[in-house]
Amino acid sequence: TADSAQSPKELFTVNSPNVVYTDDHIKSKYIYRTTAVSKSADGKFTATPKETTYDFQVDRKVPKVGMMLVGWGGNNGSTVTAGIIANRRGLVWDTKEGRQAANYYGSVIMGSTIKLGTDAETNEEINIPFHDVLPMVHPNDIVVGGWDISSMNIAASMDRAQVLEPTLKALVYKEMSLMKPLPSIYYPDFIAANQEDRADNVLPGSKASMAHVEQIRTDIRTFKAENKLDKVIVLWTANTERYADIIPGVNDTADNLMKAIEQGHEEVSPSTVFSVACILEKTAFINGSPQNTFVPGAIQLAEKHDSFIGGDDFKSGQTKMKSALVDFLINAGIKLTSIASYNHLGNNDGKNLSSQKQFRSKEISKSNVVDDMVAANSVLYAKDEHPDHTVVIKYMPAVGDNKRALDEYYAQIFMGGHQTISIFNVCEDSLLASPLIIDLVLVAEMMTRIQWKTESAAEYKGFHSVLSILSYMLKAPLTPPGTPVVNALAKQRSALTNIFRACVGLQPESDMTLEHKLF
Ligand code: NAD
Repeated sequence: TADSAQSPKELFTVNSPNVVYTDDHIKSKYIYRTTAVSKSADGKFTATPKETTYDFQVDRKVPKVGMMLVGWGGNNGSTVTAGIIANRRGLVWDTKEGRQAANYYGSVIMGSTIKLGTDAETNEEINIPFHDVLPMVHPNDIVVGGWDISSMNIAASMDRAQVLEPTLKALVYKEMSLMKPLPSIYYPDFIAANQEDRADNVLPGSKASMAHVEQIRTDIRTFKAENKLDKVIVLWTANTERYADIIPGVNDTADNLMKAIEQGHEEVSPSTVFSVACILEKTAFINGSPQNTFVPGAIQLAEKHDSFIGGDDFKSGQTKMKSALVDFLINAGIKLTSIASYNHLGNNDGKNLSSQKQFRSKEISKSNVVDDMVAANSVLYAKDEHPDHTVVIKYMPAVGDNKRALDEYYAQIFMGGHQTISIFNVCEDSLLASPLIIDLVLVAEMMTRIQWKTESAAEYKGFHSVLSILSYMLKAPLTPPGTPVVNALAKQRSALTNIFRACVGLQPESDMTLEHKLF
C-alpha cells in the first residue's frame, strides 16, 4: 500500500532528456546496443551494430518487505536472521580479537560499490554503494519469518548451528527465542534419512497435495497481514533434496503438475509444492539448494502467472572462486585441463549430503559451472572438449560449519609447460551464504518493481518470470527456457550492474576510460 511505502531517498539523479522522474516512477528511454553477426559460406563473419530502444519504468516507492525462509531453523536461516537483527540494532560485541560491529560484508548489494561516472571537473572516479543505484529495500527493514520441519525456536537453532559468537548470541537471544518456524511439508523420501529425528513440526500428509499448497498460501497471506507488509519473498534454504524424476504427464507441463499435486503423485517434491504455492500467490520464490525444484511444469506455471522464480543453489565458496578463477585463466589464454575439488564439512548440510541421492544433486550443480567459459574459447578447446572435473564432498562432524574446500587447477601454459594452482579455502559456510540470501531477496524484490516496453508497445510489462539476473549469487543459474546459462562471475556482475544502470538511463560501464587516454 502507498501508506507504508517510504519516500524515495535517492543518492543521485540522472540529468538526461531520456530520463524523467515522477513522484512514483523513474522512466527512462534506453538504447540497447548490440552486434548482430552473420556467417557467410566461406566461414567469414559480418558484424553489424544494432540498436533497440527500450522504455524502462522503475517504481520508486520502497515497499515494506517480508522474507519467508523455508528451512528457517537451519544454519543459514538462523544466521541470516541474527545478522539482520544485529545490523538493525547496530550491535557491537566482544570477541577474542576485540570489539566487532555488525556489518553486511559479503553482500554485493550492501558491501560493494559501482562506478557512477567521473567527476565533471577532475575526471576522478565517483563510486557509489551498489545499494544506491536503484531505490532498493534496506535489509534492516526486512521482516523475517518462515517454516521448518524442526520446531526449535530460532534462538535455539542459532545455538545448534554453532556459527556465531556467544557474546553476539546473548544480545539477540531474547528477540530470536520468540521466533518460531511454521510447520512445514515433509516427504521423507526427498531428503536424507538422517534428517528424520529433527522432523517434529510437520503438516499432516507425506506426499504432495492441494491442501499443502493451500496451507503455504495461507501462511504467506497471514504473515503479510500480521506484519503489515506490502510484499513477501520466499526463499528455500532447507535441506538439499534428491532430484525429482521428470515424468511425462506428471511434471512436464503446468497443467500436469497441478493434476499430479491434486492426485498426490509421489514424484512431486516439497520444494516444488512450495514453488507452486508461491507462483499461485504471485510471490517471488528463490531456490538456494541444488535440487531440480523447478521442473518444466513449475517454470511453465510461473510464466503463465507472471510470477518470479530464481535458482538454483547459493554460489558461496568453492564455486564462486571457481567461476572467478576459471574466467581469469581461460580469458588469459591459459588452457585449463583439470579441476579437482574436495570438500569436507561438519554441519547438518554435510550430514544430509552424506546420503548419495542428495549428494548427486550437489554434484550436478557443482559440475557444469565452467561450461560456458570453455565453450566460448574455440582457440584453446575443440568442439565438445572439456577439462576433467571432479567433485568430492565428505561429512566430517568435527569441523562444523567451517567448511574446507581444496581445489587443484591444472593447466597447460606456453610450449607444453604446466601450471598447477592449489587453493585451500576455509570459512563458515553460513556466513558466506547469509549475505547471498539478502542479495537474492533484495534483487528479486527490485525486479518486481521494474517494467519495460518497446517503443511501439502500448503497455509496460515485467521481466521474464525466470530471474536469470540473480545468477551472480547462484551455482547453477536457472535461465528462461532456451536461453544460455552464464557462469562466469565477471559477466554475471556486469549483467547485474548494467541492467540496473539501464533502468536509470545510464550506459553500461565500459572501462575504456578514454578521458585518461585521449588528451
Ligand atoms: P541446515 O541443514 O542447517 O538447514 C536446513 C534446514 O531445513 C533444517 O533446519 C531442516 O530442519 C530444514 N528442512 C528440511 N526440509 C524441510 C522442509 N521440507 N521444509 C522446511 N524446512 C525443512 O543447512 P544450511 O547449512 O542452512 O544449508 C541450507 C541449504 O542451502 C542446503 O541445501 C545447502 O546445500 C544449501 N547451500 C548452502 C550453502 C552454504 O551454506 N554456503 C551454499 C550453497 C547451498
